[in-house]
Amino acid sequence: MHAIIKKWVQCGSAHLVRFDYCQFGTEWKKATTVLSVGNKNFHTGNSVRCDVTWKDDVSLCSKSGKPHTTLSGFIGDATKGQYKTNRACPYPVEFCTYVANFIAKPVVHFASRIKKGEIQDNVEKIAAMPVGPAVSMQAPPADHYLTHLPKHPGCKACMNCKVQRKHCRDHNKARQRKLVDVSKTDKSDVLLPHEKVSDDPKKFGDLVTSDSVFAIKRNSTNPARVNETTTLVVRDKATGWLAAYPAKRKSAEEILEAVNNFKGSETIARWYSDGAPELHSVCRKLGIRHDISDPHRSETNGLIDRTNRTLIEGARCLLFESGMPYKYWNTAVKCFADNYNFTHFDSKRGTNGHIERLGKKFG
Ligand SMILES: [Zn+2]
Ligand SMILES: [Zn+2]
Repeated sequence: MHAIIKKWVQCGSAHLVRFDYCQFGTEWKKATTVLSVGNKNFHTGNSVRCDVTWKDDVSLCSKSGKPHTTLSGFIGDATKGQYKTNRACPYPVEFCTYVANFIAKPVVHFASRIKKGEIQDNVEKIAAMPVGPAVSMQAPPADHYLTHLPKHPGCKACMNCKVQRKHCRDHNKARQRKLVDVSKTDKSDVLLPHEKVSDDPKKFGDLVTSDSVFAIKRNSTNPARVNETTTLVVRDKATGWLAAYPAKRKSAEEILEAVNNFKGSETIARWYSDGAPELHSVCRKLGIRHDISDPHRSETNGLIDRTNRTLIEGARCLLFESGMPYKYWNTAVKCFADNYNFTHFDSKRGTNGHIERLGKKFG
């Protein structure tokens, strides 16, 4: 539930009004709920709900006595929930007229506990609560389409390709992490390597983090172009420089090529990863100190976890927007990484990866 809506629902003067579209003139029975805050004229809605009677598997409407129309247009492969289609919208005009009176002439009624000051909620607070989305639903500015950052509610790609809900927490993993945390009594052990002040990365190559993500599922029947299935995501901590290296499999040669490519003519002091053996041997070969994150504590590699998500969602948005098929995923991740370095300005530092690494603006 959206945070603002949650606030409204929890308000002591809020009540829900359930109604069915068919009671306001439509031939289909779509049930919906309106949240009313402090408006006592807006009743609980019993009289505006359809009291269905069933006859030979057909539901008859309590208002018209006629059978309810079944709408076509299921979402996906669903066989139920046909009223979740746009065909059932918008609100019936009769309903809008009915509600308009309450809005134009509200009978404000706040819960008595609010009046007495027993609960913190007060009239001003409710009045100050924002209604509707805080961000404009209009189309985003043109440069939004380079990285799709930040997520824009008016952008179709963002709305289709990015995580909409909070992640479900893995309770088993959480418990394991807790055990590990308890066993570590020495405070310095708990500090992450890249959090130690003396090691704070200052310039490109001081500390690099990496992780590999799968571009497509291994058993997918839709192999990516030239069979590239995995992507090494590399991020420089000091400059924020981001790079993605799609590869067929995690072979040492490909990792070596990726590390050399990332490094360029500069030197890398430390590399931090989840400890793929191929990467370890490459780092040893090139004289890079390689630190491995604790597998039971995913937060020790939090920066790269966040980067992975940004990259995957960004690439997905670019593909969505271009209309190109999924097999171009590997091109999309590389494109996103470059767009990100050249155009994404870090809100804290006010610069981007290109300026941080090369000291000038791109172009
Ligand atoms: Zn009905
Ligand atoms: Zn977008």
